[in-house]
Amino acid sequence: MDDRLFRNAMGKFATGVTVITTKADDAVHGMTANAFMSVSLDPKLVIISIGHKARMLEKITTSKRFVVNILSNEQKDLSMHFAGQVKEDLAVDFETINDMPVIKDSLSNIVCDVKSSYVEGDHTLFIGEVTDIVLNEGEPLTYFEGKYGKVVSG
Ligand code: FAD
Repeated sequence: MDDRLFRNAMGKFATGVTVITTKADDAVHGMTANAFMSVSLDPKLVIISIGHKARMLEKITTSKRFVVNILSNEQKDLSMHFAGQVKEDLAVDFETINDMPVIKDSLSNIVCDVKSSYVEGDHTLFIGEVTDIVLNEGEPLTYFEGKYGKVVSG
């Protein structure tokens, strides 16, 4: 099957946007991701999918912890930065929860310990057991057909 056809089909699924953060060997690393979902309520589990070319893969494999930061519609610049879509450097304001770097003013920061991982094709799936959650008010940043958007209510 053609790669473009597969990408176009996946792009029809509207998602929110997250930045995954972690800290490995005292260095903070972030990466934009929309392959995220809730897995289980008891225990509280989530899943993310990291491409094998992403530097994040080695970082999470080392740290065995990650944070899912769900972005608001005022954080598009952060999404573009952590996806490597912009050249200019951006000063990023990390805060810390339970010794993990989180992105300030996200709609939610979901701190996880890696429970298990599965190599599937050119990605690795990490199941995270949730240890801490912070919630903030705001509207979500969205992603559909390769473009950022906002939720239009009403
Ligand atoms: P790099 O490319 O090295 O880093 C990414 C960017 O983050 C660089 O600009 C870097 O300077 C910056 N950065 C990293 N750490 C810091 C720090 N501590 N302080 C300041 N800046 C920092 N890929 C997936 O594997 N899975 C997905 O689910 C996924 N979803 C995506 C969804 C969207 C909407 C987009 C746009 C991209 C998505 N990607 C996904 C692609 C992924 O975001 C990029 O391929 C990314 O560049 C890979 O990051 P990396 O870990 O290789 O790190």
